[in-house]
Order: sequence, then structure tokens, then C-alpha cells
Amino acid sequence: MLSYRHGFHAGNPADVFKHAVLLAVVDAMQRKPKGISILDTHAGPALYDLGHDFARKNREFERGIGAVWADPPPALASYVDAVRRHNPDGTLRRYPGSSQLLRDRLRPVDRLTLCELHPTEQKALAARFGSDRAVEIHAGDGYAALAGLRTPETGRGLVLIDPPFELKSELDDLVVALSAALRRFGHGVYAIWYPVIEGRSTTPDALPDRLGLAPDAWLDLRVRFRPEQRLGRMSGCGMALVNPPWSAREAMAGIHACCDAPSARP
Ligand code: SAM
Repeated sequence: MLSYRHGFHAGNPADVFKHAVLLAVVDAMQRKPKGISILDTHAGPALYDLGHDFARKNREFERGIGAVWADPPPALASYVDAVRRHNPDGTLRRYPGSSQLLRDRLRPVDRLTLCELHPTEQKALAARFGSDRAVEIHAGDGYAALAGLRTPETGRGLVLIDPPFELKSELDDLVVALSAALRRFGHGVYAIWYPVIEGRSTTPDALPDRLGLAPDAWLDLRVRFRPEQRLGRMSGCGMALVNPPWSAREAMAGIHACCDAPSARP
């Protein structure tokens, strides 16, 4: 069941879109001084070695971060800078995942909680953040952590939900946990990544109704990959936001415009 390893996909076009939007959301939330509690429900292993056999198998990163590394469009510049921090000599060798990108953005007032089920990824997180007082690692189910979420002391929180979508029940599991979280922390910001896969129902179109969300509490940003970026049957992906910080609207629109295939736009 735990066969998914993100190391095969790190830095691919889906990661570029997901991580650029994630950082834009964090940056917008950090315009206010109050601390933010961040929960990454499906953390993966912090840093990915792009020279590892996993990454080299399909070299998905070449179609993602590799394509914008040398000359990023302005809308992706801040995200590419965040990746550069882990490649100080200018050669792309390592890719920071969500947990590392979020840790790098933390201010002293912010806190980060990471959940992960896979034992190998748990070890990587512990090695990287085990002695970091700003980070808490839960070696367990991210949906259980989400379902048990409470309003943070500062009243400000962000949750990244980045599941592998291996199970058919993924969206149902997500709705159950997110409903519980919203009952206790209704004004939190929730960012849900999802793939668009031919022949499968992975898009969260029914979520606003199922969660009883007001129209302005939902923003679904979806991109289609260019033909050369396609990842098997995955033809695109999206980031759906509950309670999107509207001050990030312009940054997110710029990222969307960069990542959505031009030929797919009307
Ligand atoms: N967020 C990571 C990043 O940006 O680098 C990638 C995450 S990857 C798409 C999904 C991860 O979730 C995998 O590492 C997998 O082991 C883990 N996972 C799967 N089901 C989980 C669950 N119910 N709770 C916590 N982690 C889970």
C-alpha cells in the first residue's frame, strides 16, 4: 500500500506549480505579523537528490524545474530562488520538497507540523528536522492530524494536503477529514493539490458542495501540461484553496499563466 515514493517525481511540472502556489500563499499570509501554524499532511522527505536512481528513472524534473531553472519567468522567480538556496553553486542537483520549502519560509513566530506514513520518508524527515524546535514530526496519518486540527492560538493557520492519489478513496478520505477540520477551524487556509488523470476522477469539483463552502471561500487553480510535459496519463494538475488569501491573487494568477499550456487557453 505504501508504494508511492515522491523521489521519482520531485521537481516535475506538477511540483513546480504546487510549490510556486504554496510559497505565494505563505508569502501573502506572512504580510501580517501574527504567527502561522502550518500543517503539511503528506510531507514526503524534505530534500530530493536529483542524481538518485529514483529521479533519474524518468527524469521528470527536466520537464519541470529544469525547464525554468536558467531563466525563470518573473512569476516563478521567487520559487526558483527558493530552490536555488539548496543549489548554491548554480547547478541543479537537489530539489526541496514542501516540508523544506515551508521550513525555509518560517519566521520565528511560525510553526510547522509534518505528517508522513512511509518509514523511509519519516527517517529522512527526522534526520533533517529532528532537532529543529520550530518543526514537529508526526510519524502517522495526515488525515487523522487534519481531522483533529484545532484553531491555533494565533488564529492563523495553513494546511497543505498533498496526497499520492493511489487510493480510489482519496477524495472521500480528504472530505471527511477536511469537514472535521473546518468545523473547528473554519477560517484556516487549506491548499489541496490534485492530479488530472485521464480516465480517473481525481478533481475536487464536488468539494465546495460537499463541504458547504461559500463561493468566495473556494479557488480552484488548474493547469494543463504542454504535450512534452505530460507525465503518463497525468495531463495536468491543480491547487484548490479553501479560504484563499486574496492578497495572493495576483501572484497566483501569474503562476497559473506561466504553468498553463498556452495552446490549451482559449
Ligand atoms: N508534499 C511532498 C512534497 O512536496 O515534496 C510530496 C508528498 S507525496 C505526493 C505524498 C506523500 O504522502 C508520500 O511521501 C507518502 O508516503 C505520504 N502518505 C501517503 N498517505 C499518507 C497519509 N495518509 N498520511 C501521511 N502521509 C501519507
